[in-house]
Amino acid sequence: MENKLQARSGASRVLVIFGPPGSGKGTQAKLLRDLLKIPHISTGDMLRAHISQGDGLGVDAGSWMRSGRLVPDATVDRLVEERLALPDCAAGAILDGYPRTVDQARSLWAVLQRSGMSQLVIHLKVDYNKVIVRIAGRRQCPQCGLLYNLVANPPKEAGICDRDGQALAIRDDDRESVVRERLETYERQTRPVLEFLTASGWNICEVEGDDASPSEILVRIQDCMVSQ
Ligand code: AMP
Repeated sequence: MENKLQARSGASRVLVIFGPPGSGKGTQAKLLRDLLKIPHISTGDMLRAHISQGDGLGVDAGSWMRSGRLVPDATVDRLVEERLALPDCAAGAILDGYPRTVDQARSLWAVLQRSGMSQLVIHLKVDYNKVIVRIAGRRQCPQCGLLYNLVANPPKEAGICDRDGQALAIRDDDRESVVRERLETYERQTRPVLEFLTASGWNICEVEGDDASPSEILVRIQDCMVSQ
């Protein structure tokens, strides 16, 4: 299975992991990165890195992110285009959290056309009530970015990152009121992206994302990828 998937991704394919906040995009993107040995590009992580550095982009992005709204398209489009142009993406990449608007999807399409990369969208379908419970239990290591869930994937020692011993944190935008705003933003601005991609003929894998463990969901994704 792995070889077959690698052979397919070897033809420089960008995998777009698509779904609402809390659908497990980051978890699946990391599992796929380890399996396929291609970079995991999370626009949320890139933006948070700028916030930590305290640079101009980070200050601007932080104000949008704290309120649960989307950072302007031009900012994220540029980040993704520059990242995909780096040599480690020559064999493909996994996009997590991008595109989130129809204009971002148009921008990505143009980048892929120019670079000759193909695409496959993996749509993680989830129930919003389960998403809210899942996000409430989410913790992240501020040092290495590793994600945990207090119920589904707890750290070995409560509140401490298994990898580097840092105290785990709740992301500012994972608080319930902000999560509701992020889900509304998803409905308003991001769900139409799926309709746009479908109408534009992108390859899409529909995967149930809330009724099984991360490794079982990964198997579903692999099954769909092999058939594409
Ligand atoms: P995430 O870590 O993917 O859940 O993203 C966290 C926040 O970063 C989002 O709620 C947005 O404010 C911002 N963000 C991440 N990716 C994008 C994107 N593609 N377009 C605009 N804003 C984004």
